[in-house]
Amino acid sequence: MKILLISPPLNSLYHAASIIIPPLGLLYVAGKLEADGHDVEVRDMTYYDGSETYDGYDLVGITCTTPQYPEALQYAKDAHASGCRTLIGGTHVTFTTETTLRLPYVDFVVRGEGEQATSILCKALDEEGSRFDPRKIPSLSWYDADADLVVDNPQIPDIGTVDDLPRPARHLVDMEAYKVTKLGPRPVTTMITSRGCPYNCTFCSVPTLYQKRKWRSREAVNAVDEMEYLEQTYGYGGVLLVDDLLTTNVDRIHELCAEIIERGLDISWWCQSRADILVKHPGLVEHMAEAGCYLTFLGLESGNEHVLAHWNKKMKLDTGGQAVELLRQNGIKALTAFIIGMEQETEEDIDNTIEYAKTLDAHQAQFSILTPYPGTEDWGRNIPRIFDNNWANYTGSKVVFHRDHLPGDVIEQKIKKAYWSFYNPMRRWDLVLKNVAGVNPRKLWRILTTLRKQRDLVIPQMDPVDHYISLTSSDWETWKTSYEPAREVAAAV
Ligand code: SF4
Repeated sequence: MKILLISPPLNSLYHAASIIIPPLGLLYVAGKLEADGHDVEVRDMTYYDGSETYDGYDLVGITCTTPQYPEALQYAKDAHASGCRTLIGGTHVTFTTETTLRLPYVDFVVRGEGEQATSILCKALDEEGSRFDPRKIPSLSWYDADADLVVDNPQIPDIGTVDDLPRPARHLVDMEAYKVTKLGPRPVTTMITSRGCPYNCTFCSVPTLYQKRKWRSREAVNAVDEMEYLEQTYGYGGVLLVDDLLTTNVDRIHELCAEIIERGLDISWWCQSRADILVKHPGLVEHMAEAGCYLTFLGLESGNEHVLAHWNKKMKLDTGGQAVELLRQNGIKALTAFIIGMEQETEEDIDNTIEYAKTLDAHQAQFSILTPYPGTEDWGRNIPRIFDNNWANYTGSKVVFHRDHLPGDVIEQKIKKAYWSFYNPMRRWDLVLKNVAGVNPRKLWRILTTLRKQRDLVIPQMDPVDHYISLTSSDWETWKTSYEPAREVAAAV
């Protein structure tokens, strides 16, 4: 079969921060389909400026996150009009099959991990032709026109180990185009050594995307082979290990570090961890530093214990500070991430978070607004508060649902205040003088300007597909007046 796979462009905030990375999940699917013998092409619309026609493809597959969804629908519409079958995959559609598949130009949705199910689907389409029966394809969702029903076929078991999959088909994209993204001075690209996470934070869709919060990994030796391959084949001296939670199994990371050191690899790497795991295993941090770990992302989320508990973070406030200090002592930079705007947060709570971030004084900090992404627990519990169902606005920099105590514009202003007060050149003059990536004033200015533009931007809705959400009034005062009495009664019961 001739198959085209498309990744919509990344959010403009990534461009402002000079972060452009390959669509790794899509490249994993492409690798599997190529191994099956299909003729596969990939368009990463972040940089792609070639032909936008769809002539001659048997299937057009599109991946998307929540804010990319409207653009994914546009590609599906155009491809369908050109006579192609269309398939959408990714986290967002995994949890919105009912509305997605009622659009006449979306033929299939693959839920959860895409490689195996897409492989089975393409084989069946190829071999069965007009006798194709969608009921036989696990993890497939489709629209049964006779019954007027969206059908979610049973889920295929998640892959046993990531090593069972062919490597991502990076040769199908222009790997040079991503070299603007740097880790320190080195160009950096992405890979994974595991999938899944055993934790269950309420704002995160990783636990529900993979069945039973299952965590799967790769052999350390295979992961380091891929690091070496990226360096030798494409000249990437930096690797972003974009595992959902790299340090889930501490022994495995010791093995990974030992393998890097034994081979004498000169590679800088980035990973996502949890503060509590690092604090519990200081020897691991030492080993990571020795093996080239340059920057570690820590989701510290909030400067308030009650907010951490509400989000089921299972971590105490002081653990964040201990982890940042431990990383600092070992020469690893920390990127701390915070979320503001939990339903009941007050202005004081948000200010606590901003002050907390400043007190820790990590190398970098990232701030976002709580956004109820489909598939998360926060999505389910906040549906009655949602006033914006334009998915393009679900970027983490816009308010899309009402809070008890604060109107949306106050929360959006707080994000700008957070960035400005954390990166204020007067406060961080030592780092600014060294022009360290991430504290560069020009980059900070670009991020703040992009945030302002995003706030003012009116993004047209592609299709009113989410009519099943009864939107509330977008005016906070009106919403509060009508919502407050019922909330008080509910709280008293
Ligand atoms: S936020 Fe991190 S620790 Fe929490 S569930 Fe998601 S991946 Fe796991």
